[in-house]
Amino acid sequence: MSVESGIRPFRGPGGLWTENGEPPLDDYQRFLEDPAGYWQKEMYPTGQMGELYAALQRAVPHAGHRALVSLERQEIVKFLITQNIDGLHRKAGSRNIAEIHGNYSLLRCVSCGRRFEREGFAGAGLPPSCPECGDIVKSDVVVFGEPIPQDVAAACIDQVECSDCLLLVGTSGYVYPAAGFPHHVKANGGTVIEIGPHETDLTGICDLSVRLTAAEALPIIERTVRGTGRVPMTDAG
Ligand SMILES: [Zn+2]
Repeated sequence: MSVESGIRPFRGPGGLWTENGEPPLDDYQRFLEDPAGYWQKEMYPTGQMGELYAALQRAVPHAGHRALVSLERQEIVKFLITQNIDGLHRKAGSRNIAEIHGNYSLLRCVSCGRRFEREGFAGAGLPPSCPECGDIVKSDVVVFGEPIPQDVAAACIDQVECSDCLLLVGTSGYVYPAAGFPHHVKANGGTVIEIGPHETDLTGICDLSVRLTAAEALPIIERTVRGTGRVPMTDAG
């Protein structure tokens, strides 16, 4: 989803981390030990982070994002779990959504979990403090070593538990907990459909693999089901 909006992936060919090395695994611990220093670096990002932030600011939703919004409005897509931090699903208009790795345009309190728009956030000081409880505020983006926020994790588990069909779009399939969700839906007797140009670690458990990009495949699916209120399935899938 993000790549077609001009944001480089983290991993895989051409990935930001593939070329520059992965961030430290204890990133969250480093933040807690020196939140002011961490904030300094975040406010004036250089190198790969500078490049990433510039791309995030330029990025706009594409036809795939818009197709998912339409499918949600038709109540075909019930819930969207994304690992992307760009906020483009929300920007496009998706409402029932869990941003499992956070949203770069939001800030989040490390104690009470309240979120705030980064733009125009009024919390003074470095690190800024939470207007609700006074504790430290960080980017909503989940860094290495940081637990997935409880509200988001709970929403994902609830939705995966009741899902009869999971549409798996453009994920490499090896970052947990998200990579476990398709296995869970399969174990519950559900269907897993993969969309993406390349084979992944999850291809083996998919009922159907569509070898197109998100911006190619999702609008086709949206056009096919528009107005029918259901996904037409044939014996051939
Ligand atoms: Zn707070």
